[in-house]
This record gives sequence, structure tokens and C-alpha cells, in this order.
Amino acid sequence: MKVYKQYIDGKFQNSHSKDTIEVLNPFTGKVIATAPNGDAEDAARALAAAQKAQGPWAARTAGDRAGYLSKMAEVIRAHRVELAKTLAEEQAKVIGLAQGEIDSTAAYFDYYAGWATKYEGEVIQSDRPGENIFLMLQPIGVVVGICPWNFPFFVMARKVAPSLLTGCATIIKPSSETPCTTFEFAKLVDEIGLPPGVLNFVSGRGGTLGDALVKSPVTDLVTLTGSVEAGQQIIAATAPNITKTSLELGGKAPVIVCADADLDLTVKAVVGSRIIYSGQVCNCAERVYVDEKIADEFMDRMAKAMAAVTYGDPFQNTDMSCQINREQLAKIEAMVERAKQQGAQVVTGGERPAEPKTGPFYKPTLLANCKQDMEIMRKEIFGPVLPVMRVSGLDEAIAMANDCEYGLTSSIFTSGVTNMMRAMNELKFGETYVNREHFEAMQGFHAGWRKSGIGGADGKHGLMEYLQTHVVYVQR
Ligand code: NAD
Repeated sequence: MKVYKQYIDGKFQNSHSKDTIEVLNPFTGKVIATAPNGDAEDAARALAAAQKAQGPWAARTAGDRAGYLSKMAEVIRAHRVELAKTLAEEQAKVIGLAQGEIDSTAAYFDYYAGWATKYEGEVIQSDRPGENIFLMLQPIGVVVGICPWNFPFFVMARKVAPSLLTGCATIIKPSSETPCTTFEFAKLVDEIGLPPGVLNFVSGRGGTLGDALVKSPVTDLVTLTGSVEAGQQIIAATAPNITKTSLELGGKAPVIVCADADLDLTVKAVVGSRIIYSGQVCNCAERVYVDEKIADEFMDRMAKAMAAVTYGDPFQNTDMSCQINREQLAKIEAMVERAKQQGAQVVTGGERPAEPKTGPFYKPTLLANCKQDMEIMRKEIFGPVLPVMRVSGLDEAIAMANDCEYGLTSSIFTSGVTNMMRAMNELKFGETYVNREHFEAMQGFHAGWRKSGIGGADGKHGLMEYLQTHVVYVQR
């Protein structure tokens, strides 16, 4: 069993709290590691280290900082197989997907290293003679990055890479469910000669360690990927200091299936999207609006495809494994029960499987007869359950899709240019996929509307989250 320590100021050290969190392998139920259950004193230590490192780090050239990102990509690639194994164990992610996450994380560090020579300020024309106006981009300062359990390694990099590149000292808090790959990365970072305090990793509960990190006046930016509830708490905690927040929160992605959709492509994409990582992905199909003209055929095909999904040991390369923990399983079960009471019909699934006996499994589930006012069509399920509603056409589909408190991602399946263009212009979401489902590209911009968040990640717009403008008027 692995025993992890806090990584603060370039040193592995015991938590002030001396308390620990047991990390379970969700599939086997066995304890695989312990991580510190850090407290407010740990937060203070990490913040002091980052504050001390901030000035010298910002004073380096972006190219110099990018060199460390390239080294991070290198060490991840050198340890890609062990890291994927740790990831698959700590979160029951099927090994192929876990390997993909590790590899795309290495690519992400390389991508942002490339930005060192590309981001630039502006020289603005002045209306005074003999004057130049310079708009400089400066690092925002100390960044606190708070990560979820569903993509613990990639989301960590999504914060570390742009933050370090732009000159911000950084503290990362992984989820208590999945701290292992983060601390394995800390060990690799420890070997690449990064100046102490530039990158710190601390684990603990959101309400204690996390709260202390976000409400400190030392913190200049909080970047959270997590639930709407955590986002709301962080907005409240950062209000007294007016600290900037960048929030990537939950989703309730609608899928619109038009009468002219290619059903082979649609069914494959939608099922793949709903069952990837056992349905625990923020931007994946959460509800379907299908045109009534093709609804019967669509449901027949979906039922067969969902029933054919394999599940089991994440190391056996099944389509999916179990949920992260028993609480998530209970939440999914309760949502399906309430949906049934409200009139939804279980087409396939709708229960725990008899096998495997280890792990909190829920069968891939398709629900028919769903209506817009049902909880299952309005709240994030975060499991392998897909509710479907029939609609009269695109007008109704777009109206129903937009009628939602979340605004992260959406998708449409159609062979018509007019339908596609209507979706582009009328869907009110941060992202829309046309004739495909997940994932987003690192050079895009992943940003939710409404309760799905504030700000965003990836690409040049994601980089801007970590920069602030400094306008200087120079008179000759
Ligand atoms: P969560 O909100 O329970 O926890 C996320 C992180 O926030 C954890 O590290 C937790 O300890 C911390 N936290 C919780 N309360 C806090 C507080 N008051 N102060 C400081 N830190 C606090 O979310 P989760 O269950 O780990 O992840 C699942 C959620 O994340 C889903 O809603 C999913 O949609 C969302 N998510 C969104 C994206 C995106 O890009 N928009 C990506 C992945 C996951």
C-alpha cells in the first residue's frame, strides 16, 4: 500500500493534521493508498511557499518556464504505463481509457509549452502626441487548482500547464477519491529541478483544506473543476477578497437526433458517449431529444446497443467498469426509481447487475417516455443512464435542449446543413458537437454557460485566465 505525503516547497512532508484519507480501488473495494487529510495549516504552508516562489518564477522568461513543461511531458511519457495502471486502480477507469488520459496529458504539456513564443501584448495608438500605450500581459499570481475525481490526471495538467507557463506559482488539490496519480506526478516533478514552491500538491477535504486555500488573501485565482455545489461554495468563499474564479462545473448535455440523421453513426456515438468512464464525464450525452418520425427505429437500435455494452474489471478492457463509489451508485439508483414513478419506462438495464459482485456497478440503462419536467431530464445523472424524449421536430428539440440550468456541451446528429446551422446559432451551450460526441480539443475552449461555469480552459482563451492586463501610458 502506498503512503503519500504533502508536496510543499519542493519537499515531501507530513501533514500538520497527521490525519489520513484511505484511497479505495472502486472495483476491488480494497485500500490501495493513504493520502494526507490536510488542514488549514497545510494550506497556509503551501500558500507561503507559492507566495515566496511567485516573484522569481514570474521573472523568468516564458521560454525557460516552458522548458519545465516539456520535461513534465517527457517524464510522463517515460512512466506512461505505471501511471495508467495507478489511474485505472484508483478510479476504476478501463485501462485503455486510462492510458489515453495519461498520453493526452503529456501532449497537453507539450501544447502549452509551445505557447511560450506565441502569447503577446499590444501597442495601442494614443490620442496624445508623443505617447505610446502598451498593454502588457502579466501573470495573475498564486493559483489554486482544485480537481475532481473523474479525470484527475488530465484536469490537473489543464491547470498546471497554463498556470506555470504564464508565470504563476501553483497549488494543486486533488479529489480525496483520487489523489494517487497526482502524487505520483509530484514524485516525477521532484526530479526535474523545478524551483521549490513553484508547484505544490496538497490533499485533503474540500470543506477544510480546500476552503482554507480558496479563501486566503494570498490566492489570486481559484480554478475549480467540479460540481455546481462546490462552485457555489467557492464563489461565496472568495467573495470577501474578490478573488478571481474560473469554474468548470457540471453538465446535462442534450443530444438532438434529427429525422435525417445517419442512425448507424448516431447510435454508436451516443452509446459510446453515455457509457464512457461509466457515464461519469461532464460533457457526455445526458438526455436525448429524438424526432418522432424516426424514434421507434432509433429506440430499437439504442436498446440493442446499450444491452450489448460490456462491463467488469477495468483491466480486462471491457466497455466500462463500475461507478466511483457506493454513494454515486445510490444516487443513480434513486434517480432512476423516481423517473419510473414519474412515468419513465425502462427499456434496458435499470438495476444493479448480479455480477461482478465487487464494485458499485449499474447496468447500462435506456429510459423511454421521458418528459421535460422529470428530474432525470433536468439534473446531472453522472452514470450510464440515458433518458430519451420524443419531439415533434427541431424547433421543439432546440427549445427543450436550451431549457436547462446547465450549459456545458450539446450535440446534434443531422445530414442537413440548415439543421446544423440552426444548432450552431440557436443552442445556448459552451460547446456543440455536430455528428459526433466527446471529446474537446486542447486548442479549443472548454467553457460552460449558465450554472456550468465561469471562464474556461484550453487554447489561447484558456491561457488568458492566468494572465491579467497592465496598461502603461508612456509620454516622451
Ligand atoms: P466535487 O465538486 O465534489 O469536488 C471537486 C473538487 O472540489 C474536489 O477536490 C473537492 O474536494 C473540492 N471541493 C468541494 N467543495 C469545496 C469547497 N467548498 N472549497 C474548496 N474545494 C472544494 O466534484 P467531483 O464529484 O469530484 O466531480 C464531479 C463533478 O465535476 C461533476 O459535476 C462533473 O460534471 C464535474 N466536472 C466538470 C468538468 C468540466 O470541465 N466542466 C470536468 C470534470 C468534472
